[in-house]
Order: sequence, then C-alpha cells, then structure tokens
Amino acid sequence: MNIEEDYSFDCPYCMDTNVIRIDPTGGEKQQFVQDCETCCRPMVIKFEVGPESITNFSAERE
Ligand SMILES: [Zn+2]
Repeated sequence: MNIEEDYSFDCPYCMDTNVIRIDPTGGEKQQFVQDCETCCRPMVIKFEVGPESITNFSAERE
C-alpha cells in the first residue's frame, strides 16, 4: 500500500464513526492518539500498513 487512504472505525467510547487519513509513509507500524470527532475523548489508534491494505487496526480507550 503506497497511497493515502481514509479508514473509518467506531469510537470506543461513544461508538460513533470516525474517519482518519492514513499515511503509509509514516511507517509500517503506527500508533498515535486522536480525539474522537464526536465526544472529543482521546483514542489510541494502532495499525500496521500491509502491502495491500491496513491490518491489525485498533482504536482503544486511552
Ligand atoms: Zn466518541
């Protein structure tokens, strides 16, 4: 995978759908904290960039 991709997932707090822009050039394994667009609580986002798609995606409560 070598282009930016939008990834949608459910917030672990309010279950509302969030969309993030994944930048595959940021590394094979990425982790960062992002506030939910709906409830503004911090989520720990983790995923791996595979050759075809995003794998092992998780969004957890901080
Ligand atoms: Zn939320």
